[in-house]
Amino acid sequence: MVRRGRWRPMTGRPAHPLSRLAAGWPALAQWRGPDRGGLGSAARSRGSEAAHPRTQDAERVVRSVCPYCAVGCGQRVYVKDGAVTQIEGDPDSPISRGRLCPKGSASKSYVSGPLREYHVKYRAPFATEWESLDLDTAMGMIADRIVETRARTWQERDDEGRVLRRSLGVASLGGATLDNEENYTIKKLMTALGFVQVENQARI
Ligand code: SF4
Repeated sequence: MVRRGRWRPMTGRPAHPLSRLAAGWPALAQWRGPDRGGLGSAARSRGSEAAHPRTQDAERVVRSVCPYCAVGCGQRVYVKDGAVTQIEGDPDSPISRGRLCPKGSASKSYVSGPLREYHVKYRAPFATEWESLDLDTAMGMIADRIVETRARTWQERDDEGRVLRRSLGVASLGGATLDNEENYTIKKLMTALGFVQVENQARI
């Protein structure tokens, strides 16, 4: 008679090591147990039985939007001890209905990856190394360069005396991560400064 169910040694003696090894063999567990299809209990190991989704440990879930591109897929950000533990697609988003592309699915590493930069990087002309700058210094350098370039390249009138009041010395190229508000602010700033070359990666 074929004995089914969980394997036990036939006697009170300790099981032979080979018997213990055979008992843990998935094919044998599948044949002896109730899970003949091998899709449930027979396929489980002690490790997989102890495993659980990392989202289960979250203390709170924050709704957000994927920062990568202009599709704007909804995300659920799982947080524990003040740190992001996982980012998943938000099924309530009318844009993406729970889906994320590979970039959006990997956006946890955008937040907590060891390669993430926390400082502005600057490489001076002809320098071979990058240096770190604090944000105030970098913003001051950018403002100085824009003011100087605008003054140097300003065109009040063309050759025939027609009013131009513009500079072609600075251009803006936006990326798909920019949202509506950022694009509005950039366009407003560039127009106010007289810079007319404003483009976006999505149009190119
Ligand atoms: S990068 Fe992918 S997940 Fe993120 S908004 Fe764009 S399509 Fe959606």
